[in-house]
Amino acid sequence: MTIKPDADVIIVGGGLAGATLALLLAGQGLRCVLLEERNVETTSRRTDPRALAITRASENILRSARAWEYLPQDRIGYFRQMHVWDENGTGDIKFDSAELCESTLGYIIEQTVLEQALRAASNKQDLIKYYRPATLSGLKLDGPLVRAQLEDGTELTSHLIIGADGARSRLRTLAGIACPVHDYHQQAVACVANTEKAHDAVARQRFLTTGPLAFLPMADPHQCGIVWSTSPDHAKSLIKMNEDSFCRALADAFIHTLGDIVSCGPRACFPLQHSQAEHYCQPRLALIGDAAHTAHPLAGQGANMGLLDAATLAEVLIEARTMNKDIGAYPVLRRYERWRRGENFIMIKVLQGLKCLFESRLASVRHLRNIGLDVTDMLTPVKYSIMRHAMGLSGDLPSFARHQ
Ligand SMILES: Cc1cc2nc3c(=O)[nH]c(=O)nc-3n(C[C@H](O)[C@H](O)[C@H](O)COP(=O)(O)OP(=O)(O)OC[C@H]3O[C@@H](n4cnc5c(N)ncnc54)[C@H](O)[C@@H]3O)c2cc1C
Repeated sequence: MTIKPDADVIIVGGGLAGATLALLLAGQGLRCVLLEERNVETTSRRTDPRALAITRASENILRSARAWEYLPQDRIGYFRQMHVWDENGTGDIKFDSAELCESTLGYIIEQTVLEQALRAASNKQDLIKYYRPATLSGLKLDGPLVRAQLEDGTELTSHLIIGADGARSRLRTLAGIACPVHDYHQQAVACVANTEKAHDAVARQRFLTTGPLAFLPMADPHQCGIVWSTSPDHAKSLIKMNEDSFCRALADAFIHTLGDIVSCGPRACFPLQHSQAEHYCQPRLALIGDAAHTAHPLAGQGANMGLLDAATLAEVLIEARTMNKDIGAYPVLRRYERWRRGENFIMIKVLQGLKCLFESRLASVRHLRNIGLDVTDMLTPVKYSIMRHAMGLSGDLPSFARHQ
């Protein structure tokens, strides 16, 4: 006797990666269960102050998922230019979307606003059954079925289970997949700051020897998302400061490029690490987003990588379903792993290299990196290639990430 499972796919984690995957799959007729342990309407994640740089590829994915239309227009910031420079020296590099005949390089959107849009879209999708709060606590493989156990004793079945449950993925642990973590011994202090001067849609990043400091232009012309990566002790002291002292410290560290910092919202601290799971899949199980990999936020790529995972896995599963293949079969899931793991590995290594290069105190390295910035700024083909990659417009893109 064949048992009809509760869903085609169970997705653990209703963050950016998990909710996007559910929407893409449900949009093509797959029945999804989405498990989210936070009671999102009431938890403190509502005050998560992160503003994320979102690539053009991610915009395409969120449009394909029908979530972009739920973003309030007045919360979508965009940047036309990017300016990166080094505290030690004169080297700098500027990117401008006009050079590629594009209207923007990307967007700046608060993490909570993105999550709300995805939730609103999921609530409208009949093929998504959203369980929240619901915590995955156990897993059993039973022939062609996956049995997911929740903390409240509920058991749900499907042909495939996806771990989109973040950097400390419970599903990854239950599956016994190793995920070596490299600790950067740095923390990022994030907040939203109001600046004296308008940001003019320019994303700015100043590399300090203690770590990069980014001002990301939000929808309000005088508001920037701040990501200040620094040593754990310094981060702790920045969090403890009263608002006035913090605003002064921030303006000084940014050499008053946008004038004084008039005020700032709640601050939060994030430990920084990079990691990559040794496998992205097993029979009937796959990992996406931070559950599969984490990266330094200096180029704002973590969520974008997770959205590309979601779009790629969705494409692979939809194709398998169209060809009447078992969507939980290992060869199907391996195709996703081969497609994404190498690309993510390269991105993580590039970010690690940039971080080391910019934090070196050696005079010779400082000298070379200043020359490197200036030379790259002048080498048009190299610069354009970096820009296209940062916008998510190059590489082996899944169809959901291409311009529709
Ligand atoms: C300071 C900082 C700045 C950043 N800036 C950028 C940026 O500019 N651009 C960018 O692209 N990325 C950026 N990132 C990275 C980005 O925030 C993450 O990569 C992204 O949010 C990860 O999304 P996710 O859905 O994979 O995981 P998460 O957001 O961690 O979501 C996982 C979800 O799973 C749920 N969950 C966990 N365990 C269980 C369980 N057992 N059962 C049920 N549910 C569970 C959690 O509650 C959570 O909602 C930044 C990161 C930091 C720290």
